Amino acid sequence: MKTKFPSFTDMDNALITNVDVAGTCNAFYNGVSINFYALGGGCNSLAQVGDVVYHEYGHGINDKFYQSQGASFDNGAMGEGYADIWALGITQSPILGIGFDDTDPTVLVRRYDIKKKYILRI
Ligand SMILES: [Zn+2]
Repeated sequence: MKTKFPSFTDMDNALITNVDVAGTCNAFYNGVSINFYALGGGCNSLAQVGDVVYHEYGHGINDKFYQSQGASFDNGAMGEGYADIWALGITQSPILGIGFDDTDPTVLVRRYDIKKKYILRI
């Protein structure tokens, strides 16, 4: 992020991270923290899936950067895409969320190297 927005400092602080939040198979950013549901429902805790952690942090970048510009990030689909790009920029992979499923290691969340990108929602 710093290579893209070097003067942006609104994410230069520790971000509260909650794990084993009640619920399963998802994660979320809520404006002040990133949150990961517990293992269960056929899913691993997404706190253990690195690119999902990057994705949730990416929501924070989207949120705080737009706020710094006097705007708000209200387009949910674009927010997901932008958060994916922050994550994939770190992993350098078109595939996001390998490790989602607790039994099938081939299940993923989204991929950007085929036409159908959205498979699961986080
Ligand atoms: Zn998301």
